[in-house]
Order: sequence, then C-alpha cells, then structure tokens
Amino acid sequence: MSDPHLPVVWDPRYGEYNFGPGHPFSMAHRELGADLLAEAEGAERHFRWIRTIEPAQLSELRRFHHEEYLQLVEGASRLERRIFLDGGDTPAFLGCHEAAARIVQGSIETVRAAIDRSGPAFHPAGGLHHAHPDRASGFCIYNDVALAVAAAHRALGRVAYVDIDAHHGDGVMYGFYSSGDVLNIDFHQDGRTLFPGTGDVGETGISDGAGLKVNLPLPPGAGDRALVGLFRRVARPMLEEFRPQAIVLQHGADGHAGDPLTELRYTSRGYTTLLNELLGFAEERCAGRLIVTGGGGYHAAHVALTLARAGYLLAHANELVRPDASLPEAWRREFETREGGPAPHTWGESPAPGTDLWSAAEEESLVARLESELGRRFPSSS
Ligand SMILES: [Zn+2]
Repeated sequence: MSDPHLPVVWDPRYGEYNFGPGHPFSMAHRELGADLLAEAEGAERHFRWIRTIEPAQLSELRRFHHEEYLQLVEGASRLERRIFLDGGDTPAFLGCHEAAARIVQGSIETVRAAIDRSGPAFHPAGGLHHAHPDRASGFCIYNDVALAVAAAHRALGRVAYVDIDAHHGDGVMYGFYSSGDVLNIDFHQDGRTLFPGTGDVGETGISDGAGLKVNLPLPPGAGDRALVGLFRRVARPMLEEFRPQAIVLQHGADGHAGDPLTELRYTSRGYTTLLNELLGFAEERCAGRLIVTGGGGYHAAHVALTLARAGYLLAHANELVRPDASLPEAWRREFETREGGPAPHTWGESPAPGTDLWSAAEEESLVARLESELGRRFPSSS
C-alpha cells in the first residue's frame, strides 16, 4: 500500500442535503462522525481528507438514473414550494439536485481513491441506497452507492456490494439484478416488518445475475450473532468464490441497538468484527479495495460513533477506539451544543444494547432457505 493515510471524503457543503427540521434524516449526525475523525489526537497520521467535491455531472447521474427523473429533481430543486419526490418520505428542497449530486460525486471519488491507493477509502455521507433509476425513496434522492458500484465495475470488472443497513438496499439490488458482475449481499431487518418491504430470500437475481443476489432478512431483535455468524457462514464463502476486484460496503448505522426507526440490535462489537473481517478479506483478495459509505441511522450518538469507529478501523488505528477510551472533550462539547443533549463519554456502548434474540434454530432455518434458493450448501463452521 503506497499511501498509509485512509482517504476520507467530506465536503463541508454536505450539510446542504437537508430535508428540514423534524425530518428523521440528519446529515449533521454524519458530520459529527466526520468531526470525530478530524479532531482526534494524531488524526493527521491516519487520514487524508478530500474536502472539495463538486456535484456529479448529469452524464454521470445518467449511468443509473433516468432522464425524466433527473429533470424532475432539477425542476423541484429550484422551487420555493416543497413537493415530494416519492410517496411522502423524501421532500424536495431548494438546491436538492446539487446537494444529492455532490454526494454521488463523493462516492465516485471514494472509489477512485481506493483504486489509486490500492487500499480502503471512506465516505461517511454516502450510502443513499433506496433511490431507484426513476424515483426517490426512503430519504434518498440519487443513489450514490449504486453509482459507486457502477464506477468500480467500469474500472475493474467484478464488484461485490455488501449492505449492512437495517433496511434492504433495494435501489442497488434491483439496479444490478441481472448483472453477473455484481455480487450483492444484503443483511437487513425482514421486509415484512420494515421499509421498504423487499429483500426476501427468494430474490436471488435473474439472467446473468441469477444466484448472485443474496438476501439475509433478520427478525426484529436479531443482533451481532446474526450479523457476524451469517457473514462467516454465507457472505465470506460467496465472496471467496466470486473473487471481486473491489468491495463496496454500505455501512448504515441504523441496525444499531436503540435506533429509533428499526428493531435490530447490533452493537459496536458486531460492527467492529464484521468490518475487520471484510477489511482482511479485501487486503488478501482484492488489493485492499474496500470502499465504505455510511447509510441510514437516526440516533445521533450511534451514527457518529459507528461511522467514526469505522474510519479508525479502516485506518488500522484500532487502539484509539477501545470501548473504555475517552472521546475528545472538544468534540463532546460540540455534540452537546448541536444536539442539545448529553454526549457519550467513551467509545463504549450508551445506552445498554439489549439482548440479541437471534437463535441457532433461526440461523439454521434461514440458511436452509438460502441453500434451497441458491442451490448450494453453507456448512456450519463450528
Ligand atoms: Zn436504513
């Protein structure tokens, strides 16, 4: 690896992706995560910041989005009057085209940084995985992460997309549903209990993509045992066989225990194990090219800490995020000023994560369904 610094993409103008007061999606929570990377002691030893990102050109956006939809967003972007870009979750706002296109460009530049460096790269503002070619969905106007997969595919060939957001990454999965060059592995809360409702085990891809779309729907209450156990048993062998040239990880933080919109119970331990194992795989098998974006997350402290922790782990600075390590005082004051509530003191859990309800019987049942749909075996490693 030539450059020891982890490229981190964050333009201060990302805050313009703002649906207004009262909307659950807050770019400010992601910014607190980025600030926690920037303000840490010795941060200059670990990170190389890319801070000027211009909005993606229409020619770039057209690689995934339809022309009529781009025109709709551009028009709505200039209106004082607010209209919805979907059924009622994703309102347009002044400048929404530029704000969303800037996040797309950030993800594209993260892909470039990972390729140039032969190592991981991080874009905590990215991960807007619900946007479809012809419509917004679930707070996502343009699908930066689908366009990142497309960019990595153009540059390198086979790409694996792994999505650990609590919601199914429908925009990305359907966007590459027939592609034999994109392996899609998606952990999410079961669509029968959570938006957007898709991501059943039976959705396995079509045409050249048949057997390459792997859905791991989890019941409410499932936590780290499900995330880590299924990564090792299902995701890792699929990745080994597929031999991707790069991996794009949508690292949503809304599967964290205590997220107000979802019912999964991941903790920092599960996220840390999964990310370290994926990073190890990327370093062994695909020249370190692991492109990590953020995603959903609706609890300020969990979003900020989960994203910042991911940055430190990708930079191999694991010792700085030990659960008992203190958070910088300046960052804690900034958090309390912005959020109007108490900031966490350490990298450890706050509040208590709750019990992981995932059972061995549930794992066997899900794996049996996957084996039947995919026509292959996933033996237990234990
Ligand atoms: Zn989500």
